[in-house]
Amino acid sequence: MDIFKKLYCRTFQIFFRIAIPILPYHEPKIIHNNDELITILLENKIKNVLLVTDEGISKLGLYNELINVLKEKNIEVNIYDKTVANPTTKNVEEALKMYIDNSCKAIIAFGGGSSMDCAKATGARVARPKKSLNKMKGILKVNKKLPLLIAVPTTAGTGSETTLAAVITDSETRHKYAINDFPLIPSYAMLDANLTVGLPKFITATTGMDALTHAIEAYIGRSRTKDTRKNSIEAVKLIFENLLLAYKDGTNLVARENMLKASYCAGLAFTKSYVGYVHAIAHSLGGKYNIAHGLANAIILPYVLKKYGRSIYKKLWELGTSSNLFKKNTSIEEGTKIFIEKIEEMNKSMGIGTSIPEIKNEDIFQLAKTAEKEANPLYPVPVLYTSKQLEEIYYEVKNG
Ligand SMILES: [Zn+2]
Repeated sequence: MDIFKKLYCRTFQIFFRIAIPILPYHEPKIIHNNDELITILLENKIKNVLLVTDEGISKLGLYNELINVLKEKNIEVNIYDKTVANPTTKNVEEALKMYIDNSCKAIIAFGGGSSMDCAKATGARVARPKKSLNKMKGILKVNKKLPLLIAVPTTAGTGSETTLAAVITDSETRHKYAINDFPLIPSYAMLDANLTVGLPKFITATTGMDALTHAIEAYIGRSRTKDTRKNSIEAVKLIFENLLLAYKDGTNLVARENMLKASYCAGLAFTKSYVGYVHAIAHSLGGKYNIAHGLANAIILPYVLKKYGRSIYKKLWELGTSSNLFKKNTSIEEGTKIFIEKIEEMNKSMGIGTSIPEIKNEDIFQLAKTAEKEANPLYPVPVLYTSKQLEEIYYEVKNG
C-alpha cells in the first residue's frame, strides 16, 4: 500500500480511537433468568411487550417458559416470529406494525444475530416513526432513545447483544446495509445457558469460533483500550477452556454458560476496537457463496494470523499465556506458533475444514476488492494490505 493511503487509513483510525472515551457506549447489564427479566419489566411498569424471533425458535418452543411467566404477571406478549436469516425491511415493518397495533412498550430480541438485528431496527423505527430504515443507514442516524430493549441470545457467538449495529436487507432492491448508532445497544442481555443446550453441534462450533475471531481481531488491532484488552483476554481464555466441552456435550451447562459469557465479552471488545481482515474476507464469502459467517471466520483466521507475521507475535503470545496454552517462559516465537496451532486443532476437533474450495479463481479479484473496501480505512488492522495482497489470502484459503 502506498504511503499516502497508509497515512490516510491510520489517521482515520487514530481519530476514532481518540473518540472512544467521549462516545456514548454502554454495556448491556447482564441478567440470567426469566425472573430477573420480569422484574425489570415490572419496575418499568411495562404491561405489553413485543418479542422478536424466528420460526425455528418458535418451533422449538424456546421461549414458552418465558411466555408463561409473563402471563402469570399479567404482562401481555406479542410474538413476531417471521424474521428471516438476513432480516429484511419487510420484517421490520411487520414487527413495527405489531408493536404499534398492540401498544407495546418494550422489545425482547430473542434468538441469534438475525432476530437481534430485526429487533434493533424495529426499535429504531419506533423511535423514529417518520424516518425510513434506508434513511438510518450508516452511522449515527438514529439519534434517539429506543424503547427498552432486552436481548436474549440463543447462540453463543455473534455478540449482537452488545453491539450498536443492525444489518438489514432491503426487500425490494436486496441491498444489504448496516444501521449503526449507540441507542441500538440493548439495555440488558439475558445470558441463560438453558436456551443454548439444544444448539446443533455445527452451530455451537461455528458461532464459538466467530466469538474467538471477534476477541482476537479486537486484541491484535490498533484501537485497543484497557477495557477491550481485558474483555478479549477473558473471552479467549473462556473459549479455549469451554468451546470443545460445549461441542462434545451440548448439555454441559457450565461450558454453555461460559461460552455465552465469552461471546458477550468478545462483543464488548470488538464494539469498541473493531474486527479486521478475517471478518472482511468472511463477509465477502458470505455475500458471494452464502458461506456461514462463523465457519468462514474459523477457516480464515489461522491464514490471516500467519500473514500478519511478526507484527502480532507479542499480542498472540499474551493471549496464549493468559489462556494457559503454554508456560510463561516459552519464547514469543514458539508461543505464537502454539497459539495458532491450538486454533487449528480446535477447528479439526469440531470437524471444521482447512480450506474453502467454493472460492472460484475468477471471483477472487472482485472479492478482494470488496474486502479491502470494507476494511480500509475503518478497521485498525495490525498490517494494512491492498486488495492485491488480500488476493493471496483468498488463494491460500481456497487451496488449503
Ligand atoms: Zn463475527
